[in-house]
Amino acid sequence: MFIFADFNLSYLYIYNLMSNNDTFSDDLGDNHIGTSIDNPLRKDAFDLTDEQKIELIKKDVTNILTTLGMDLTDDSMKGTPNRVAKMFVKEIFGGLNPAKRPSSSTFENGYKYGEMLVEKNITLYSTCEHHLLPIVGRAHVAYISSGKVIGLSKMNRIVDYYAKRPQVQERLTMQIVKELQKALNTEDVACVIDAKHLCVNSRGIRDIESSTVTSEFGGKFKDEKVRREFLDYIKLDTKF
Ligand SMILES: [Zn+2]
Repeated sequence: MFIFADFNLSYLYIYNLMSNNDTFSDDLGDNHIGTSIDNPLRKDAFDLTDEQKIELIKKDVTNILTTLGMDLTDDSMKGTPNRVAKMFVKEIFGGLNPAKRPSSSTFENGYKYGEMLVEKNITLYSTCEHHLLPIVGRAHVAYISSGKVIGLSKMNRIVDYYAKRPQVQERLTMQIVKELQKALNTEDVACVIDAKHLCVNSRGIRDIESSTVTSEFGGKFKDEKVRREFLDYIKLDTKF
């Protein structure tokens, strides 16, 4: 499946046409359709501290597991609510907090390198916002300098920051491109993500083989030749 950038907009239109009832929300989630480039955060999202959030989530996880009939006095499980709460706030959803946004400091392109730079096979761990199950894959990011360059590991950090949220893959792809376009002051940025969604691989249709590819091509990458060059680099089988 190859999903292009304007995919979201058409679904946003469909979404607006439909009434926001639960059945439609369920369908929307099961079909992994995102509705906006911004994560749906409330205005009061950061009124609570991380520690307050962990305390509340701990109670909620306790409640879920108790409702399922689990005995939380069992040695193996008694720490689970606290572990899950900390993991949600500090790790897998840590990228919701703008305070954790990586600095994307840039440098002057002193050596006047004018070709594209590709950072490929960036390991990506995210979480599907419809099922709260892992998305595991690779991101490939490229840009053509307009005078500024960015540290290579910064590209990995930007991918990781936006991945650590409840996500849909299309939105994640667009957010990475937008962030780099801003930092590098150029439209000439592209990103391709190829990822497995455990909500597809391990439940529901249980198709272990399928993966989802999304792409966003900005500026010069809209040109067929430039895009082809980027996609050819991604295919290089680099071994060290
Ligand atoms: Zn899902």
